Order: sequence, then C-alpha cells, then structure tokens
Amino acid sequence: MDISTICVHGCDKRYDSTGAVAVPIYASATFAHPGVGRSTGFDYSRSLNPTREHLERTIAALEGGTQAIAFSSGMAAVSAFMELFAPGDHIVAPDDLYGGTYRLFAQISQKNGVNFSHANTLDGIEKSIRPNTKAVFIETPTNPMMQVIDIAAAARIAHDRGLLLIVDNTFLTPYFQRPITFGADIVLHSGTKYLGGHNDTLAGMLVTSDSGLYERLSFIAKTTGACLSPFDSFLIVRGIKTLAVRMDRMQESAIAIARWLTAQTAIDKVHYIGLPEHSGYEISRRQASGFGGMISFSLKNSETAVKTLERVKIIKYAESLGGTESLITYPMLQTHADMPEEERNARGINAGLLRLSVGLESVDDLIADLEQAMQ
Ligand SMILES: *Cc1c(COP(=O)(O)O)cnc(C)c1O
Repeated sequence: MDISTICVHGCDKRYDSTGAVAVPIYASATFAHPGVGRSTGFDYSRSLNPTREHLERTIAALEGGTQAIAFSSGMAAVSAFMELFAPGDHIVAPDDLYGGTYRLFAQISQKNGVNFSHANTLDGIEKSIRPNTKAVFIETPTNPMMQVIDIAAAARIAHDRGLLLIVDNTFLTPYFQRPITFGADIVLHSGTKYLGGHNDTLAGMLVTSDSGLYERLSFIAKTTGACLSPFDSFLIVRGIKTLAVRMDRMQESAIAIARWLTAQTAIDKVHYIGLPEHSGYEISRRQASGFGGMISFSLKNSETAVKTLERVKIIKYAESLGGTESLITYPMLQTHADMPEEERNARGINAGLLRLSVGLESVDDLIADLEQAMQ
C-alpha cells in the first residue's frame, strides 16, 4: 500500500461497530472490566487508550516499524528513551542538534551521569565510540544547519559494536524518509511539526521494529506518564491524513524559495538539501524520496537578518516548523540560545542565520514577503 493511502486511512483496527470513518475520541481515563481476570484490552489511559493506539499504529505503519508510542511532546519522547540508559553510559550525538535535545542532554542527562561526545561525520562518530558507549543518536537533516548523515552507514557503525541507532526524523517525516528501513532501532518525532502540521498541537513519538525495545519503552512510558491525550491524539491522526499533500506542496515551494534566495545579493549562503550544490544532496537522493520544506540561510549582514524578522508580514517570526503557516526563526536567540556562544559560532549558528519553515501559502506571496522584508 502506498504511504499516502496509509496517511489517509491509518491503521486498520476499528474500535466500535458504528462504522465511524474518523477515529472516535475516547475521552475516558479508565475502562470497566467485564469480570474478574477479564479485560476489554484497555484498563487505564496512561497505559493504553484507543484513540492514542490508533495514532501509534498509524505512525508505526508509516515508518515501517511494528510499534510506536505517542507522548505529550517531542521532548517527552526524548526523555523517555533516555531512561534506557544508566549512569556511566555514553552516547554519541551530532554536533548540530535541535536546541531542546541539546539542552536535555547537556543539562539533565549529564547530571544523571550519562555522557556525550559530539560528532557530525561518520568518521567522527566512529572515533567517538568508547567501551561504555550505548547508542548513536542522529538527526538528519540536522537543525538548523541542514547537514545530512548517511543513515545506513551510521546503522552499520552502531550495530557492529552492539549500539542502538536512534534517529530524529522530524524534518523529513516518513513520507520522505524511513530510517527503520535503513537499520535505525528507534525513530523519534516531534509530532508537533509536520505530522500534526497545523501549529496547534504538541506531540512526540517513538517508533521501533524491535519488540524487546518496545516493551522497555512502553514500560518507561506508562511508568513516567507523559502520554498524549485522546484529543491531541485525534488531532495528530487528523493532521497525518493530509501529510502527503502538505509535504509535496511545501517541498515544491521550498525549492522555488531556495533558488530565489540563492540569487539575492544580501545572502551569504543557502542551506537547503534539495539544491544540487548542497553537500548532502547525493546522500539525500539515496535515502529520502524528497527534500522537505526547511531552509536555513545566512545573510551577509546581521542587521538585515534582524530587519527581516521584524518586517515579515505573512511569514510569522515564531519558533517551531512544519505547519500550515510559514514560520521564520532566529536560531541564535531562539532554539539554540542555550548553546554556548563559541559552540554556536563554530557550527555557523551566527547572527546572520535564519531558519525558514515553508508553509502552505502561495509561493509568490512568500517570496514577495521575503523580498520586501530583506530590503
Ligand atoms: C521540535 C523538535 C523537537 C522537540 O519536540 P517538541 O514537540 O517541541 O517537544 C525535537 N527534535 C526536532 C528536530 C524538533 O524540531
């Protein structure tokens, strides 16, 4: 079955006999038992809820995994998988990382005794592995510098040494990229972004095809309790129905905007993985069926960057990405504010860098908005 059909119909399981085409919102915290020692399959919504289960089965099918768990945010999903590790463990993660994940690793996991090495390249990842390393965590493309990592090669490096490979697939979504098919053990999503797709709901997901790992993760999820509510599960299911058309349209607009930006004299560099001159273009073509809707670009003059943020009208100056409304962010002051300045500068996250999430508005209106704002 094609992925766009799975997006629309979701998982096959039906929970009632009314013929409801949309999944019902089971707003129940608890479920009555038909008798002692008998169960409907549901007991308490922190462990399992039908609306959330529908979403979990749908995202598992989309990612080519067997099981998934939905959390109240992407960061709740990150904190859940971090419970797989113990003090003394070590994890290799990229240099360029979503700011919230970086903050959790640096300010919470480290305090709990888990240490990190940062490496961007496959060679760097391999060299950072120590006897106590337990996992390789990657984000591809990375946020905000849009660097691409070869997932299959990262999986080989991790699996040769018995390590887990965890991949944040928020930017491309399973519509364009399915890391489990390249060997990832766990796929992470901020469902707040493209999966929900409307800038209105926070959600997170973990997907796996390893049932032992699923058992451990679902024990952590039900024990720590950051589960997604039935109503929010419904909203993410509803968002996923249009994932395919949204991703296609956003990508089409992103290519046009990236080309337009490249031709502007105020621009220093455009980071869009769909431009043939991007360093990750060839790998992207191999491991993804599309390039997505995220563009980072640096302006030669940082004052122009600030002016652009203040003057955009249709595009909103706001955190987040992947929704119907185009959003522009200032990574230095927003998502990456918690990263030490030297580290930020070394990664190119400087005062001239902006990140654009291309939404569903007319591409001509978006270009006109950028043009007037950048003048
Ligand atoms: C937003 C984001 C997260 C965190 O997700 P929340 O839903 O905001 O908690 C993690 N990874 C990436 C790549 C993100 O963009």
